[in-house]
Amino acid sequence: MSANSSATPITNRLEGKVALITGGASGIGETTARLFVRHGATVLIADVQDKLGYLVYKDIGSDSISYIHYDVTNESDVEKAVDMAVSEYGKLDTMFNNAGISSIIRSQILESENEDFKRVLNVNVFGAFLGAKHAARVMIPTKKGSILFTASIASIMANDISHSYAASKHAVVGMAKNLSVELGQYGIRVNCVSPFAVGTPLVRKALGMEKNKVEEVASSCAILKGVILEPEDIAEAALYLGSDESKYMSGLNLIVDGGYSLTNPAFSNALKSLFS
Ligand code: NAD
Repeated sequence: MSANSSATPITNRLEGKVALITGGASGIGETTARLFVRHGATVLIADVQDKLGYLVYKDIGSDSISYIHYDVTNESDVEKAVDMAVSEYGKLDTMFNNAGISSIIRSQILESENEDFKRVLNVNVFGAFLGAKHAARVMIPTKKGSILFTASIASIMANDISHSYAASKHAVVGMAKNLSVELGQYGIRVNCVSPFAVGTPLVRKALGMEKNKVEEVASSCAILKGVILEPEDIAEAALYLGSDESKYMSGLNLIVDGGYSLTNPAFSNALKSLFS
């Protein structure tokens, strides 16, 4: 039994709230949708993977969930989904701009394809921009709301990641901060969640690895030992930022990486190899 197991779990932290989650058919978005519903929210999951989205919707099997086809780069899809949240459920409290795509890991500048760069920025940045724009449209008159983005530790670190992905995630954080300044006057909070490597389809595809292998690699270089980063950990961060518990948080990039981005182990590794 863990030290905390006698604590009463806090439930219904999103009671009465309405959330729209993009990329809700898979990975972090799907997990967040499940958690939000468990905490009393009504959730509209939005994705381009319709078959998968309907499966998630059916599996959650609650009156508090629905699915809508939504391509983040298509403004009429975005407009329709935001309007559906308002017409069906009366409002939009949390807009979670989570959908994203990766590019080839380690793509070098001279090998980078221009079209690939545009494709990644179109989904990860322009898509997030459209989501924020239409969420703000319906939140401003109500003078409240929480706009969230899934960025990445690629928003604060330079690494063996593609230039397109790194640029897109830095841009998302910059946009979120700028939005938080503009929208604060309307009581709207704007924040990001930035995960380290989670074994979702996006990362599995980019690395060409199974979930266990992703977790093994991430754990081997993690600072925090004895735990594995799972989609639930990112969903918990989104739950906090979507709930009133974070009512004074805005402009934050919440890094969920167990301290990974704090240090560069190259020097101590070089010393270790000298003295071993
Ligand atoms: P995932 O592939 O499981 O989920 C991403 C979802 O986004 C998919 O369901 C996909 O269909 C959807 N999507 C892609 N393009 C879309 C579009 N044009 N319109 C609507 N939906 C679209 O991957 P994930 O890891 O859950 O990714 C979620 C977010 O987390 C992404 O923004 C990703 O960049 C970010 N992220 C993931 C990790 C990780 O390690 N998994 C780390 C840092 C950041």
